[in-house]
Amino acid sequence: MTWKYQAAIIGGGPAGLQAALTLGRMHVETVVFDDGRYRNASSSVMGNVLGWAGAEPAALRAAAHEELVAYPWVRRVPERVETAREDGSGLVLVTPSAQWSAERLLLASGVDDALLPIPGVRELWGDTVLPCPYCHGHEFAPGPIAVISDGGHAEHVGGLLRGLSSSVPVVAPADVLSVSRSATGVRIDLRDGGAIEAACAFIPPNARVRSGIADDLGIRSAPEGIEIDALGRTSRAGVWAAGDVAKRVDSRIPAAVVTAMASGLTAAADIAASVALVRDGRS
Ligand SMILES: Cc1cc2nc3c(=O)[nH]c(=O)nc-3n(C[C@H](O)[C@H](O)[C@H](O)COP(=O)(O)OP(=O)(O)OC[C@H]3O[C@@H](n4cnc5c(N)ncnc54)[C@H](O)[C@@H]3O)c2cc1C
Repeated sequence: MTWKYQAAIIGGGPAGLQAALTLGRMHVETVVFDDGRYRNASSSVMGNVLGWAGAEPAALRAAAHEELVAYPWVRRVPERVETAREDGSGLVLVTPSAQWSAERLLLASGVDDALLPIPGVRELWGDTVLPCPYCHGHEFAPGPIAVISDGGHAEHVGGLLRGLSSSVPVVAPADVLSVSRSATGVRIDLRDGGAIEAACAFIPPNARVRSGIADDLGIRSAPEGIEIDALGRTSRAGVWAAGDVAKRVDSRIPAAVVTAMASGLTAAADIAASVALVRDGRS
């Protein structure tokens, strides 16, 4: 069976759900696909999201799902989009259960983190080994707060954290043997036999775009994100990108829940404008 929509969204994280809300409020027939590999899934507490201090990321998504029920134009499909292609009259998306036809597409499909290959990092990721000082640093002050990184990233993140803690040990990944949970939060065992005890440690997330669908559609993408303009438009007409999967104008802009939601809203507003142009014969 083929279902037809004015807009499809791939990704039901903060970017995709905010876009769905905006499109629902503009009565745009929208389908949202999501296979539930949320970037912050390993964190039990969300920080720096106004009004949601200390909440679980899943609580925000659950509230969004409940809110979207008021907009019958929005359908959520908990499935993975496997492929996408153009068929002359629009885009065809294939999921395990059906084929879906959409006039417009928003990619809000997030990124994967290529974590440092240090034993213990994966187990503590999102708990006491973290990517973003804006999201979790404050909760661990006054520290000590460690940084396992080098180069420009270590300088930037270390500088930020020295505003929260007077003790910010910085260690290069090559010098670290392993990390483990400890009474202080995290213990960093070093190759030279030493160890650092800290409340938490920050590492570079090394985010990688999930580009399968973008590649299917021949959309221009860099390792740090799909290229977009100020309205979220990609290099391909009719396809937008938002959230972590979209390249930020400056890498110092945090990849976070609020910035993902903001870009989801921006892209959805432009999608709604495009629907209006076509409806009124102005495009
Ligand atoms: C450990 C950790 C903790 C974090 N903590 C915070 C925090 O406290 N506060 C904060 O503001 N930010 C935090 N962040 C950042 C935040 O999680 C991201 O910026 C935010 O989730 C980005 O939202 P998104 O909608 O772009 O992507 P995501 O939330 O990752 O959602 C993308 C969704 O798209 C789905 N998807 C991908 N491809 C397909 C497909 N082909 N078909 C169907 N579905 C697909 C994925 O499965 C996923 O469900 C944290 C990040 C990490 C790594």
